[in-house]
Amino acid sequence: MSKLTVELISVGTEILMGNIINTNAAYLAERCVRLGLNCYYQDVVGDNAGRLKSTIDTALGRADIVILCGGLGPTDDDLTKETAAACMGRELYLDEESKAAISDYFARIGRVPTDNNWKQAMMPKDSIILPNHNGTAPGCIIADKDKNKHVILLPGPPEELKLMFEESVEPYLSSLTPGAIVSKTVKVCGIGESKAETIISDLIKSQSNPTIATYAKTGEVHIRVSASADDEQAARKLVKPIVKELKERFGEAIYSTSDDVTLEKAVVDLIIGNELTVSTVESCTGGLLAGRLVSVPGVSDAFKSGLITYSNKSKRKLAGVKKSTLDKYGAVSKQTATEMVKGLAALTKSDITVATTGIAGPGGGTADKPVGLVYIACSVCGNVTVKECHFTGNRQKIRDNSVTAALNLMRQCILKYYSEKTFGKE
Ligand code: ATP
Ligand code: MG
Repeated sequence: MSKLTVELISVGTEILMGNIINTNAAYLAERCVRLGLNCYYQDVVGDNAGRLKSTIDTALGRADIVILCGGLGPTDDDLTKETAAACMGRELYLDEESKAAISDYFARIGRVPTDNNWKQAMMPKDSIILPNHNGTAPGCIIADKDKNKHVILLPGPPEELKLMFEESVEPYLSSLTPGAIVSKTVKVCGIGESKAETIISDLIKSQSNPTIATYAKTGEVHIRVSASADDEQAARKLVKPIVKELKERFGEAIYSTSDDVTLEKAVVDLIIGNELTVSTVESCTGGLLAGRLVSVPGVSDAFKSGLITYSNKSKRKLAGVKKSTLDKYGAVSKQTATEMVKGLAALTKSDITVATTGIAGPGGGTADKPVGLVYIACSVCGNVTVKECHFTGNRQKIRDNSVTAALNLMRQCILKYYSEKTFGKE
């Protein structure tokens, strides 16, 4: 069974000029690969009819499926639909259903559509129309069954594109490929990518079906196991033993095997599952840790306070760090981090308190305390653990890595606390 190929075309002069980052292409590529499609080319093209046409023609010459994103809007520079329809030899017609959906959308948001909004209801003949549940521009699929070519048009705004892709495009793409592909992602934290690859190098070397691939994220490694088979059940059966093996090799470094679970969600689930409360006190991460926790829906059951104690004075006044500690050991020290979590626990009466204090750079480093030195403390019901970290990279990277390390430390400390508690009871 040979794999179908997909080519992605992102349309928009602002992407071409670097004004916006092409996150749609990253999203679409990842989802397509997960569906078992081969992606050999991605293109970026500005809002120019001639160049867009030649890009679509070239893509159709070498791929089975061409996905375009952007340029479905109401303005004159939005040319994707007209151009793609022309490349596939189709005319546009006014689709009454899309027109009604656009009217409804404007009624819901309490605005009156302008004349050019109806341009968004002009659709290529004989295409499958994809409803837009997050905006006005419908998408569509123009398929040429004889030539086995499929052109898929999606809106540019990422939230509109993602919903449309997951609701309508994924089922369509799955229906094109016989058999089934099943993948599972094993998410590991606290182990670098090269170390993770060493741990599984034998598995990677001997892979064919399932395939095993590692992806590095900030402070995390995701290992994706994908198998193809005649049906879903058979594909699942192939994936299962590999995931089991990975669980044995990585143990507690795995925080989830679910696509939808981020590290912060895994931590929040652990906190809520154990009916605990949490507060944060941050110096070098300046609120990023609280932000990651608060991004998880439902965290209000557990999250109490997030303090940013950036100056020494606020570390003393708000977090209760002793002046003598700051004078003797400095703000970036194990001792200060410890007093920060203890002070916060006393102040907020939270079961879990977490602190970050470090040197994010680019200035402020010394021989003793270089840029990238970060102390992270976590207290679970009075048991304090402090981790000394040495990160590299720029200020943003050091801060992002600190947040990931703090989340992972929280996870480890909670797991340790409960395993010791259970062990003590036996
Ligand atoms: P609209 O109706 O908003 O005009 P559209 O389908 O015409 O939608 P564009 O005009 O190309 O899409 O882009 C609208 C916005 O969507 C851009 O300003 C940008 O914020 C976002 N966007 C477009 N393409 C991408 C992309 N490839 N990656 C990330 N964001 C994008
Ligand atoms: Mg537009």
